[in-house]
Amino acid sequence: MIKVYQYPHETLLQTSTPWTADDRIDGYDDLERFERDMIRLMLDEKGMGLAANQIGITKRFFAIGHESFDTFQKHAIIWNPQVINSSEEKVIDVEGCLSFKDIFVKVERPKTVEVQYETTQGKTRFAKLDGMESKCFQHELDHLEGITFNKRVSKLRWQMANG
Ligand SMILES: [Zn+2]
Repeated sequence: MIKVYQYPHETLLQTSTPWTADDRIDGYDDLERFERDMIRLMLDEKGMGLAANQIGITKRFFAIGHESFDTFQKHAIIWNPQVINSSEEKVIDVEGCLSFKDIFVKVERPKTVEVQYETTQGKTRFAKLDGMESKCFQHELDHLEGITFNKRVSKLRWQMANG
């Protein structure tokens, strides 16, 4: 059974490696069943994104989706995601993280990003993301680099959010 690990669990601090066609998930014969479980876990925890290393797997994929999103209106697992372009314009908005229960902090990030990722069927897709969807993608991608959102804010802001 998969579960969300809390910071500072070791996999949250590690850089993930690319997902390849030969990769398998421990405990699952069937990728579809894994995908359903991971998405269900994200929804149960009321998240709009969940990175592989948050459930202990240091491979480059994450779950994303929310009804308010344009590209990921339907929940999906995306593989080998990348940002290929980001806007100079930045926005500051509140973020939460399933690996930090009950902490919400304002994080500055590029407003829009152009992204690339692979579908479960191995197709490469491109999209331009804005708003909360852009923020969510960037937050999850950071996880795959071992960067948690406390590293994206000043010490003072982090202390205030924990106050
Ligand atoms: Zn997170």
